[in-house]
Amino acid sequence: MVEKTKRNIFVKEGNWMKKIIIITTGGTIAMKYDETKQGLVPAVSGDDLVEAVPALRQVAEVEVVEYANVPSGHVTPAMMLEIAHLADQYASRPDVAGIVVTHGTDTMEETAYVLSLACTTTKPVCITGAMRGASDMGYDGLANLLGAVRVAACPEAAGRGALLIFNDEIHAAAQVTKGHTVSCSTFISPMWGPVGYIYFDGIVFRRSSQVVEKLPTEQLTEGVELLQVYAGMDGRMYHYLADRPVQGLVVEAVGCGNVPPKVMEGIAYVRSKGVPVVLATRVPAGRVAPVYSYLGSAGSMEPLALLLAGELSGPKARLKLMLALSHTHDNDELQKIFAEPLY
Ligand code: ASP
Repeated sequence: MVEKTKRNIFVKEGNWMKKIIIITTGGTIAMKYDETKQGLVPAVSGDDLVEAVPALRQVAEVEVVEYANVPSGHVTPAMMLEIAHLADQYASRPDVAGIVVTHGTDTMEETAYVLSLACTTTKPVCITGAMRGASDMGYDGLANLLGAVRVAACPEAAGRGALLIFNDEIHAAAQVTKGHTVSCSTFISPMWGPVGYIYFDGIVFRRSSQVVEKLPTEQLTEGVELLQVYAGMDGRMYHYLADRPVQGLVVEAVGCGNVPPKVMEGIAYVRSKGVPVVLATRVPAGRVAPVYSYLGSAGSMEPLALLLAGELSGPKARLKLMLALSHTHDNDELQKIFAEPLY
């Protein structure tokens, strides 16, 4: 049953008996404490994970695909794209209703964003994980996995881009970020909040994911770097990278896209080599905008034809550039791809 009111879409889950594919990649959700190493290490297989949540069977028939069992700091952009292709491949099966990816939380927002950009399926694609290991008190992996399968089985989750499911909240891939190093409520969408939540009796969507952008590609371009700006930064790192050379650069500027004058000079040097540069901000909410015209402001850098990240974080803008560069190296074309200011 789906009830649509002015503000809500409330989906009361029926006896759907859908098939959901769970692609496991590792992360804390698949880790246990190891006495000898005195810390959490990968230890739980995909099948173990599913067996630990009998309630899954009441929601859907699940099939496990083990892609990897690694911490998310070991997941590369190329692997993220491979996971997106795998998700599409399984989603193309007529018996499959949706996809869930399990993943470490450290880079989960990045894989979520690549899934969102690169997956062509119109079926729901969800990603989840855990903050506590399977051997810890209050292991959150079980509830998160159940939540992700429930959302992936929900028809209203389709067409919203990849969704990050955590702590009973539903977040849009382009907007979500990890906001706490250890808390189970770590994921936040600073600008917009979650798009919905999971409740005991159903799933509620309170808003859409705004613009859901697509940039499907067979491969991505490596060699795109990211530098975060800080007070007193000079241009040395910019010269260093431009002389390597790099394929692209993302600058996480301060405020609404401003940098110290020496950094501006460094960016100009990178641009003089024909390297595309994306201007993002290290501020968690809001977008890059040419508000000022003083030396080093986003406005003063307009002649450098930078690509503006909009509301995307630096790491997400980097992934977008890596995908975009597989379509074109033309700066005007890249500016068009980055022209969408709102997510
Ligand atoms: N360090 C872990 C990882 O990202 C953290 C987690 O999964 O929560 O794989």
